[in-house]
Amino acid sequence: MTPSHTLPVNRPGATWQPGDAPLTVAVLGSTGSVGTQVLDVLRHFPERFRVAALTAGANVELLAAQAREFAPPLVVATSESIRALPLPPGTRVEIGDDALIEAATLPEVDVVVTATSGHAAIVPTARAIAAGKTIALANKETIVCAAEVIMPLAAAHNVAIRPVDSEHSAIWQSLGAGKASDIDRLILTASGGPFRTFSAAEMDAITVEMALNHPTWSMGGKITIDSATLMNKGLEIIEARWLFDVPYERIDVLVHPESIIHSIVEFADRSQVAQLGLPDMRLPIQFALTYPDHAPGPCKRLSLAEIGTLHFELPDEQRFPCLRLAREAGIAAGPYPAILSAADEIAVEAFVAGKLSFAGIARTVEHALAHYTGPGAITLDSLAGIDAWARTTASEAILATPASVFTPGDAPAPARP
Ligand code: MG
Repeated sequence: MTPSHTLPVNRPGATWQPGDAPLTVAVLGSTGSVGTQVLDVLRHFPERFRVAALTAGANVELLAAQAREFAPPLVVATSESIRALPLPPGTRVEIGDDALIEAATLPEVDVVVTATSGHAAIVPTARAIAAGKTIALANKETIVCAAEVIMPLAAAHNVAIRPVDSEHSAIWQSLGAGKASDIDRLILTASGGPFRTFSAAEMDAITVEMALNHPTWSMGGKITIDSATLMNKGLEIIEARWLFDVPYERIDVLVHPESIIHSIVEFADRSQVAQLGLPDMRLPIQFALTYPDHAPGPCKRLSLAEIGTLHFELPDEQRFPCLRLAREAGIAAGPYPAILSAADEIAVEAFVAGKLSFAGIARTVEHALAHYTGPGAITLDSLAGIDAWARTTASEAILATPASVFTPGDAPAPARP
């Protein structure tokens, strides 16, 4: 067990006091759901933070508008088309993967916010850690797929990894009440998604529109589907295992539809400490940036009196098998979490495209996990190959199994042997 002072969330990192020069921030993935909320937080702290770099993918119009507002010295896009748009005179534009790494490792950068979705964040994050940058981590794949590489690297460079995800931020904040060595259990709360109360039969008729309509959180498309399958919570179990060095058998999930209690730490004396707030991603984003300060920011006050009642129940792994699959992949370790993540991405894409049923998402992921026969250990270099194998295997399973290629309303596919 790692001693409390070396938990990755609590390592010393970039901090600021009034009168100090601003902290310099690079935002990877600034135009996505989390990225735009990161900039909204930064807008509230003009003296505390300066933006050194913004990076984004296809949304060059928004990236250019952000550059005009924040005037970063460096903007990284995936398309040359950004050069046709008006940009501030001091902003340099670069294109491509090497430029993404440059943004993450600029000498003047103190904090790198990894709000990029998917696997593209892993290598730039590793390079940022090697360059000693404090990481504000919003990208799930970095820890889910590459923790066995990333965590030792962060330890070797004594780099702080500060979670932006609301559940891990809640655990981090609750940990302030005790020592990491006194943690008995982590209790990750889950809204349960839009299908929490669905019967097994109703779950066979789930449409894309239904799955994209999340009851409490406003997020990107992929994570919204992952919340509906509870895969998102499964990925968060894997993240919690690494960020807080707690074994899987001591990480529980509690369904809490109101999303007011963001997670709970139970200490050895049975004291449970939780963090509460309205469901607003800007709160955990801000804490990752202003830690250890709880500074006045953009978030509204929670009134428990107005909310009145909070509800809790245990998750149902029969109806939501992705939760079980993620836990099993986490325990299997090595390449399995990366296979889980990549196969899920392919399955979610197929579901959104109407080529796979809701239940087919878990079946596709299970198929990929069951068919892997490669090496049991990972390196930063081997991850791309494992990722590609999992994507191909998942895609082939979706195409090759006619029973799984049905649209809602058809007969459900038989369970795989
Ligand atoms: Mg979360």
